[in-house]
Amino acid sequence: MKVAAFLLIAGLAFGQKPAVDWKAQEAEILRHYSALVQIDSSNPPGNETLVVNYLKKVFDAEGIPAQVFALDPARANLVARIKGNGSKRPILIMAHTDVVGVQREKWPVDPFGAIRKDGYVWGRGTVDDKDKLASNLMLMLLLKRSGARLDRDVIFLAESGEEGTTAPGIEFMVNQHFDQIDAE
Ligand SMILES: [Zn+2]
Repeated sequence: MKVAAFLLIAGLAFGQKPAVDWKAQEAEILRHYSALVQIDSSNPPGNETLVVNYLKKVFDAEGIPAQVFALDPARANLVARIKGNGSKRPILIMAHTDVVGVQREKWPVDPFGAIRKDGYVWGRGTVDDKDKLASNLMLMLLLKRSGARLDRDVIFLAESGEEGTTAPGIEFMVNQHFDQIDAE
């Protein structure tokens, strides 16, 4: 899994052994993943701020600085950052928060139910892109809890508007807040 791979690499790179008990993390990973899938951020219209509000609460509770940037108040983006010592340029991990629309009549289950069935979590966005969003979120939480001393900042970006116009999302962040996401 992506989080495991990153932390393994991070652990090696930063000279600390990875100490993540993945079995013990499963419940929390599944909780965040399901909660994110359950937020209807179908684009259009997006309403990605609902996702950002969820993420902000989690980061705040964890003591990870997170800032919200919005061109359209309903379609906010979020940037969180774990500081390193600055000897290397930051790394940026990113995922988008919107999902494509659903034709409900074609779904055998509620597309925003995150129902567990046949060994899978069912729902719109489960493989695009809320899986990456949940992985990146967990990566930040576990990295913070590990207390690892980092050579570089790790920047988390959750961006709106990937499945349609990118104007309120990545375009807005690049054009008006590039300093927040500037990375190697
Ligand atoms: Zn996508």
